[in-house]
Amino acid sequence: MAGKLQSPRGFHDLTGSDLRRFRRVSSVCRELFTRYGFEEIILPVVEYAELFERSIGEATDIVQKEMFVFTDRKGRRLALRPEGTAGAVRAFIQNNLYALRPYHKLFYEGPMFRYERPQAGRYRQFHQAGVEIFGVADPLADAELLKLVSDILETLGIPAVMELNSLGCRNCRGGYRDALLSYLEGVADHLCEVCFDRKNRNPLRVLDCKVESCRRAVASAPKMIDFLCEECREHYRRVKEYLKELGVGFRENLNLVRGLDYYTRTVFEAVSDELGTALIAGGRYDYLVEEFGGPPTPALGFAVGIERLMLLVEDPGREEELYLLIPFGDVWSYALKVASLLRYRGKKVEVSYRRGGLRKQLEFANRIKADFAVIVGEEEVKEGVVTLKDLRSGEQRRLRPEEIP
Ligand code: ATP
Ligand code: MG
Repeated sequence: MAGKLQSPRGFHDLTGSDLRRFRRVSSVCRELFTRYGFEEIILPVVEYAELFERSIGEATDIVQKEMFVFTDRKGRRLALRPEGTAGAVRAFIQNNLYALRPYHKLFYEGPMFRYERPQAGRYRQFHQAGVEIFGVADPLADAELLKLVSDILETLGIPAVMELNSLGCRNCRGGYRDALLSYLEGVADHLCEVCFDRKNRNPLRVLDCKVESCRRAVASAPKMIDFLCEECREHYRRVKEYLKELGVGFRENLNLVRGLDYYTRTVFEAVSDELGTALIAGGRYDYLVEEFGGPPTPALGFAVGIERLMLLVEDPGREEELYLLIPFGDVWSYALKVASLLRYRGKKVEVSYRRGGLRKQLEFANRIKADFAVIVGEEEVKEGVVTLKDLRSGEQRRLRPEEIP
């Protein structure tokens, strides 16, 4: 590569205002996760590729074309994780967590990787914060998760619509799949190339296609909701009932499926009208733990797309006030002691490494948006004081370092 080095396409640095907005989203998620009783788990960024192939599904976009897969020096196929749930399930089983308590509530946060076409809110490295509940079949858990999603969005002041659907279970999904498939055969001429191809492998995914002709073609497709077995129908009914009681608004989207094969029963997405995309998405995956060799364990979770939310929040600005300590002359040891004193008291202090007159120094203070200048010259040292200048009001006074408010 000639010239200036660039980060790879779809990989971004986060600094300044972007980083502050990122941290704001992340800290609201973490705070609420903790308040809802979730415990953090730090998962590896790399897993065996097979973990994702088996859970997300061979016929999904993620596995077919979005995964970063590579072989290590011993020829093992590894993947950069494209999402968090598969790893959480693997960890739940590998660490025998199910033996410790009747159910578990875990949260994670970190970078995910998908080889997608980069655009606003879509990157090759992005971040998710997510939660998983293992061992709860009760629809109350589904409703509580949705309440958590709505709390996150409300705290951040982000408007979104919660879309809800049920994908049924082992007992009822098969019948629906057959009905959908024969419907899709009938409208096959109107499907986009990708959907024409995937209708046999993954017919549900066709419902999620964004291409206009596909949307029209599936508008009157059979709906999962009409095929739900008695238990799934009751589960779905109770989720909606609890949501009404909790005051969580939602809209049923009978064509909502998800891009991952492991979902059962409840699926949901918090969709932003402004971005026209999902911000937070999740659902139940009652068979995944079992499919990976764990005991039968109903489970559910969701993931927050941090960058997507980030696009919709304001820069909260810097929280702490900044003191710029400006030494004039040979006063370094005194100046550094004053800086230490303030730092011990929890203040954010920067010692100016610029040289030059007062005007230059104050210009610099302005540039770095300092709130106070703490000026130390030889006279101040002699008298054991500092000159404190409030840069917002321009007010200035001399006082002993301990007296700085
Ligand atoms: P989309 O339909 O937007 O591709 P998805 O169905 O692939 O989303 P999930 O796998 O459910 O998304 O991931 C949950 C959330 O993670 C999404 O709602 C979104 O906010 C975020 N997300 C997914 N892929 C990306 C990406 N490439 N860049 C940034 N955020 C992403
Ligand atoms: Mg996607």
